[in-house]
Amino acid sequence: MKKINIIVCLIILILLIGILISLNVLYIHLSNSLKLNGKKEIEINYNETYEELGVKKIKLFNKDLSKNVKIKNNINNKKIGKYKVTYTLKFLMFKISKTRTVNVVDKTEPTITLNGEEEIYICPGDFYEDEGYKAYDEYDKDITDKVKRKVDENGNIIYEVEDSSGNKVTKVRKIIREDKEPPVISLKGNSTIYVKLNSKYNDAGYTLHDNCDVNPKIEVINRVDTTKENKYEVTYKATDKEGNVSTAKRNVYVYSEANAGIVYLTFDDGPSGTGSTEKILNILKQENVKATFFVTSSGPDYLIKREYDEGHAIALHTSTHDYSKVYKSVDAFFEDLNTVKSRVKRITGLDATIIRFPGGSNNTVSNNYNYGIMDILTKEVLNRGYNYFDWNITSGDSGECTTSSCVYNNVVNRLSRQKVNMILMHDIKMFTANALSDIIKYCKNNGYTFKIIDSTTQPIRFK
Ligand code: ZN
Repeated sequence: MKKINIIVCLIILILLIGILISLNVLYIHLSNSLKLNGKKEIEINYNETYEELGVKKIKLFNKDLSKNVKIKNNINNKKIGKYKVTYTLKFLMFKISKTRTVNVVDKTEPTITLNGEEEIYICPGDFYEDEGYKAYDEYDKDITDKVKRKVDENGNIIYEVEDSSGNKVTKVRKIIREDKEPPVISLKGNSTIYVKLNSKYNDAGYTLHDNCDVNPKIEVINRVDTTKENKYEVTYKATDKEGNVSTAKRNVYVYSEANAGIVYLTFDDGPSGTGSTEKILNILKQENVKATFFVTSSGPDYLIKREYDEGHAIALHTSTHDYSKVYKSVDAFFEDLNTVKSRVKRITGLDATIIRFPGGSNNTVSNNYNYGIMDILTKEVLNRGYNYFDWNITSGDSGECTTSSCVYNNVVNRLSRQKVNMILMHDIKMFTANALSDIIKYCKNNGYTFKIIDSTTQPIRFK
């Protein structure tokens, strides 16, 4: 009986030992199986989200116990520090834990922002006064007061700042001391000057400005000799202390009055009661310039009266200006011409003898009405005491031009100081009236002289 008891006790003991060994083996297995995915210690940046990597699979009799693992952490990614993540597995009477350390750190460099440009150009020898700067760190916020400034051997400014986590940043403001800009010479007066022979030439001078040099040097070479008709140049050469050079020049034409370009402003087809003739007369009066009007029977009498009274030349352009009438026959031409001649006589008392053929003396339109009539008329008008004038500059105002700028450009581009300038315009065109003031100003600024056609004028005629 005692023996049996001992055997039973032994069996129980062996079973107990077996259970204990088994449990121990299980514990060791579970403990070894609880393994972290990733590293035991990881670092994340301030504000960066912590991503849980979890644990590896824990196998027990074809079952995965990793789903039973409880994960806890107290990570605050807004605050630098060391945090723990705990992984706990409870199974039967066992409680197994592992931990992971998470370091929240600040690895972001602060930034330095400069007021003003990062590249500063200043004159050699000038002092640059710092326009200021700001330093900001995502963790420390404003750290402007921690910025250290120094100037390197080239004069550049180095800004350096370090945040509380030791992240350092530097920024450079390049200071470039150089002057590549030459002085600026501004001529007073026109860059082209016309001076009468044997008069005195006074140079209008200049103003001088330089970005770095208060007192740049200037050399003026003036070889104008007003006793000789010629084209001269006055040259200006300015040099700043860095050796930058600029030049300017003025053209001076010394001319004799006798050879100066003469301008005849001639207006055909008027007068016009629509305002253009009146406007032309107003401009001529204001500029004190006299012109020649080749009038017809159109428009009101008072405008012809005014033209005459204000010293302009009144000339004849036929009464009707109708090609089919005036060029029908020689008699028809003179009959028509006489009508306007009488009109002028009636208004002004003047016996006008200066004429211009409608379409000019070489027109071919007259052939449509009487072939070859111009050959006869050009001789016959002279026989009868008339003097006829064509033109050598057309303003284009009865052809290609419909704007003032077109008229202006045609006239000034065709002017020459080497010849008599007989300009054909039409006072019935308002855009011509609107161009006149600029044309006169151009002529005056370029040394032209205005004249009216009279009995002494050398005729301008087409061949
Ligand atoms: Zn005409």
